[in-house]
Parts: sequence; C-alpha cells; structure tokens
Amino acid sequence: MTDELPPILEAKDITKTLGSGAAEVKALKGVNFDLVPGELTLLMGPSGSGKTTLLSILGCILSPTSGSLRIAGLSTAGLDAEGMANLRRQHVGFVFQAYNLVPTLTALENVMLALDLRGAARGDAPDLAAEALAAVKLSHRESASPSKLSGGEKQRVAIARALAGSPSVILADEPTAALDAENGMAVMELLAEVAKDTKRGVLAVTHDHRTLEYADRIIRIEDGRIVGRARRKDDAALTAEGAH
Ligand code: ADP
Ligand code: MG
Repeated sequence: MTDELPPILEAKDITKTLGSGAAEVKALKGVNFDLVPGELTLLMGPSGSGKTTLLSILGCILSPTSGSLRIAGLSTAGLDAEGMANLRRQHVGFVFQAYNLVPTLTALENVMLALDLRGAARGDAPDLAAEALAAVKLSHRESASPSKLSGGEKQRVAIARALAGSPSVILADEPTAALDAENGMAVMELLAEVAKDTKRGVLAVTHDHRTLEYADRIIRIEDGRIVGRARRKDDAALTAEGAH
C-alpha cells in the first residue's frame, strides 16, 4: 500500500443519462473510481450494466451528466468538445473488441496513423511505431496487412496503436471477446505487462474469469453502480465480490 502511486485517473460521482423521454436510461448512477498507474484493473458486469458507457466517459468520448473526471491531474470540468478531444488524444489509448485496424495499411502504418492523429512529429512516427510494435512482440510483422494477421496478432497491433504516443491510460472494451481462449489470455497478459512496464493505468472490460489471474484489481458493476471491488492481494475478497 505504501509504495502505491497516486491515481492517474479519478472519477467522482459519475452519472450518465442516455436517451430521452420514455426511452431515458440512467446508465450510470454515481460511479466512483480510480485507476492506478502500473496496474491492470478489470471491469466486469452483465450486459447492459454500463461498462461501455463508463469507458466512453473515462476516455473523454462522452461527457458525464454529472460528476467529475481527472486524468493525469487535469480536470475535464468546463472543457468543450475540442478540449475533451485534446485530452483524449494526449492521454487515452483505446482498444476495442473488433480491433478496428485500417485494412489497406500495414501493421506499422496502422500504428503510425494513430501517432499522426495524436500530433506526433511526422519524422518520429516510424521509430515510435516500430517501438510500439516491438513492445507487443510483433516486430517481425511490421509490413503485414491486417488480412494476413491472426486475431491475436491484430489485437496486439491494436494494443501497439493504443500504446503509441505514450498515453497515461489505456481503456480496453472486451479486448478478448473475439479471440479463442489461448489468444485471449495472451492479450490479457500483454495488457498486464504494458501496465507494469510502462507505468500506465490499464482498464479492461472482460467476461472471462480465466483472465482474473492477470488483474491487480477487479471492479464489478451492476445496473450502473459499482457493487464490488477487490485487489489481487486479497484473493478472498476477490472471490467474494469480484469473481462471479
Ligand atoms: P454494457 O457495456 O455493460 O453492456 P452499456 O454501457 O452499453 O452496457 O449500456 C448501459 C445501458 O445504457 C443499457 O441499458 C443500454 O441499453 C443503455 N444505452 C446504451 N447506449 C444507449 C444510447 N445511445 N441511448 C439509450 N440508451 C443506451
Ligand atoms: Mg459494452
């Protein structure tokens, strides 16, 4: 506990109402949540419980209806759409279930494109992209197009893309859902490594209990509320509230 770093992301009393009128849904009902650098946190919960909505807010894609968010010490309060986009570009890397790679670009070019969007200097992009692909152990696949990559490799390119540009936090929404068990475990292990080696805060949504072993923390959400938290260190609590 004593060597714990201050949170890289702090969310306080976050609520989010989606839709309007009769279709109104309170997707988040007061969520308090910290992401610690150097740790992989897993977010688990049933379908419709608010996981994607929470990730979208933490990643500055959606604004909360109420509550506050700080990333790397910066508050999102009062930011307009452009301010939110800047914060997102500088500090957040996303990984999605469906990889979302550009099919006409090579693995290296996909990562370079992300660097470009983040505003990295053009001249630095090839080296930074190569570094990110090396970090996910895909240097040998730099010039492969997505159609030549396996699902696991595609997701590793997507993780490299999220890593490139050194964001403070990486948010992964069901990154293993489209993968077989073995590749899914490898991706989760990689996310845990990325958190530790680069001292980033990594949050991943998963349904797969086998991936629990890679987690430092587990958070369980139901019906827009956090209903369980556990740390890896106290396995009893993890089993009691996090892992069912
Ligand atoms: P999860 O990712 O845990 O499956 P979501 O965050 O996607 O859950 O959804 C949370 C709740 O918000 C669900 O009840 C869902 O139906 C609702 N919801 C999601 N997106 C919208 C939207 N654009 N408009 C209205 N309701 C939505
Ligand atoms: Mg979802």
